[in-house]
Amino acid sequence: MVQDTRAASPVSLAVDRALADATAAYSARNPESRARYAAATAAMPGGNTRSVLYYDPFPLSIARGEGCRLWDADGHAYIDFLGEFTAGIYGHSHPEILAAIASALTRGINLSGHNPLEAELARIVCDRFPSIDLVRFTNSGTEANLMALAAATVFTKRRKIVVFNGAYHGGVLTFTGGGSPVNVPHEFLVAAYNDVERTRRLIDAHAREIAAILVEPMLGSGGCVPAEAEFLRALRQAAREYGALLIFDEVMTSRLAPGGRQEALGIIPDMTTLGKYIGGGMSFGAFGGRRDVMELFDPRRPDGLPHAGTFNNNILTMSAGVAGLTRVFTPDAARTLNARGDVLRDRLNALCRRRGARLQFTGIGSLMSAHATARAIRTPSDAAAGDARLRDLFFFDMLERGVYLARRGFMALSLPIGDAETDHLVAAVQGFLEDRQAVTAADR
Ligand code: PMP
Repeated sequence: MVQDTRAASPVSLAVDRALADATAAYSARNPESRARYAAATAAMPGGNTRSVLYYDPFPLSIARGEGCRLWDADGHAYIDFLGEFTAGIYGHSHPEILAAIASALTRGINLSGHNPLEAELARIVCDRFPSIDLVRFTNSGTEANLMALAAATVFTKRRKIVVFNGAYHGGVLTFTGGGSPVNVPHEFLVAAYNDVERTRRLIDAHAREIAAILVEPMLGSGGCVPAEAEFLRALRQAAREYGALLIFDEVMTSRLAPGGRQEALGIIPDMTTLGKYIGGGMSFGAFGGRRDVMELFDPRRPDGLPHAGTFNNNILTMSAGVAGLTRVFTPDAARTLNARGDVLRDRLNALCRRRGARLQFTGIGSLMSAHATARAIRTPSDAAAGDARLRDLFFFDMLERGVYLARRGFMALSLPIGDAETDHLVAAVQGFLEDRQAVTAADR
């Protein structure tokens, strides 16, 4: 986090006061969530089993969802602009997904064998993503990245992995805020996102020791910072020159075009990792790519690499995934959803600019992130320089206006979101800018 140089300015004090008031109002409005959270602390550390969902003074307890709407334990309704951090693209109760799960349930789950649906989902994934000749399933995006990195080190017989500051590839592959003590112990080289020259120098220095370059085509958790095409092309080139594998983590960005951001940019990695909505909103992950790499896992080979997982081919995920990709999130639906997101982000940014506010929305298509700064955001440090307290104030004010999003400002559109919902969000942001004019005015 960049030091806030406005610490003692009148605006800064006003932000502190406004945030304290908003937090107090939030606490008063949500007694049931508070009680549930207090009860949860008896059985889970900090009452939490998924770090990203916690925030002070206590997180909302979500009671139910329907379409693109959520209700909390105190009965407040929200439009769900978070969409389960991109996994919830279908909304909470899409009839095709419900039918697919129901039909799987009636034929029995936990079948202890191969099933026809896993091959069907695999075929669909291979057809959709240009880099994927062969694919394997996991239960999470984290696991998919772990397996892709393992495959790369075995395939290349090398140990070093290039990753980027600000990147998130899972709880044990976190490179935001200087890394994480629970990261897996690979030999990571942490490079500068969107900085071709510095990255190239680092790669040149380690050259043929590098097994893989792992990159998100847009930093998702890191604040929806799109990779510049030139940057990704330079990675493609460097990986090719040194015989390293280029891995695109498209766990989030796969939704941005029918064949992911790789297809949109025409930059084809050696391997791709997926997750989130591809399994119809059930637990899911996948890693896939070049035939010669993925064939390492062929169990008919005497030296075939092991890849285990009781639930890798679980029938609920396979069934929901096939239904989702063939009947709901079709290529046309992908284009429409992302066009809706582009229009929405343009409207929000036009509003912020018109009012000269230190607020902006970065992203591509259906993914976006609010940042409390008016300065251009190209890199993770640009994103980190935003005023975190103002962003928190935005979060609590949005909740009060019936808009559900991540505390850090992240939003992901789901398919049931229509014009009425995007209009609601635009009106909520406009209301925020009007009511909070004193603290949102940009520094000049
Ligand atoms: N990679 C990226 C780019 C992600 O955004 C995430 C999750 N937000 C993951 C990997 C990890 O996926 P999962 O939470 O399913 O383990």
